[in-house]
Amino acid sequence: MQALQQGSPEARRRALAKAITLLESSKAEHREPADALLAAVQPLSGAAFRLGLSGVPGVGKSTFIEALGLFLIERGHRVAVLAVDPSSSVSGGSILGDKTRMERLSVSPQAFIRPSPARGNLGGVAEATREAMLVCEVGGYDVVLVETVGVGQSESAVANMTDMFVLLQLPNAGDDLQAIKRGVMELADMIVVNKADLDPDAAMRAQATLTSSVRLLGLGHADEAGPKPEVLQLSALHGDGLEDFWAAVARYRAHQQGHHIERKRRHQALAWMWDRVDAGLRRAFHAHPAVRHELAAIEAQVAQGLVPASTAARRLLAAQTGKR
Ligand code: GDP
Repeated sequence: MQALQQGSPEARRRALAKAITLLESSKAEHREPADALLAAVQPLSGAAFRLGLSGVPGVGKSTFIEALGLFLIERGHRVAVLAVDPSSSVSGGSILGDKTRMERLSVSPQAFIRPSPARGNLGGVAEATREAMLVCEVGGYDVVLVETVGVGQSESAVANMTDMFVLLQLPNAGDDLQAIKRGVMELADMIVVNKADLDPDAAMRAQATLTSSVRLLGLGHADEAGPKPEVLQLSALHGDGLEDFWAAVARYRAHQQGHHIERKRRHQALAWMWDRVDAGLRRAFHAHPAVRHELAAIEAQVAQGLVPASTAARRLLAAQTGKR
């Protein structure tokens, strides 16, 4: 714990990396020290701004994070970058790329970059990232960027662990609104059209179309009475538009000030707890010997229409609890 907060920046970074490795470990004997670490960290965490970021591969996430990270460090911030990569947990490969990403940011003493953990399923990966985020906050990083790709369920996982969720889009986004998943738009607190330098007119059109879709379709956080998500454009490659982006973030944060953000975080913590309970129950169910014994036969009976699905479900649940 103390190693996270005292000593040279290099020693603190090493301590942070070590702490996260412990949290990411799937070894049973590591769970107890990991929980002890979390218990110590929890009361001290929460001071950082948690910014989630998503977009399809190639949209410019790492270019943007590097530019934003350097921009923030120049202004006195310390920046941690974490990732939730659903592909790394499934195939061992990664959509979010290798260690050569964010070369300039990674050598800054004020930055800490951690690739996505590869702990089992997406839930496990996201859990490890969520825990890592808390440790980074205690380590003195006041902006934590959590990145994910625009595939699968990882976006809602990241939106549910951050204070603000930003969706990066390409300049042709406005031409093909169908291509943007409505579900993801609903998660977004801000939409950023990147690569505006490639085709400024297209970027302008995309910004206008996305802005009106946000309004017309009533997108944005349904549970918040606050402002609709802003739509901006920028060029991560040239660093153009970062000032405007950070000013828009500040407007959003100002809106969140006070009890609002605490409520959101409490809600996120509870939702997270239930998510992990559900996942644990599911695992226990599938691992139960009686369930494993009966599952194939019951599935076949349902598939053939011999047993109603709801009856089959009751039988399997009864098999797990041993009550017939
Ligand atoms: P990621 O897969 O979302 O992390 O995307 P990258 O950051 O790796 O960017 C993919 C490609 O787009 C790279 O070749 C970048 O140099 C390029 N790129 C990123 N942002 C911009 C931008 O603002 N303008 C232009 N012209 N290219 C960009």
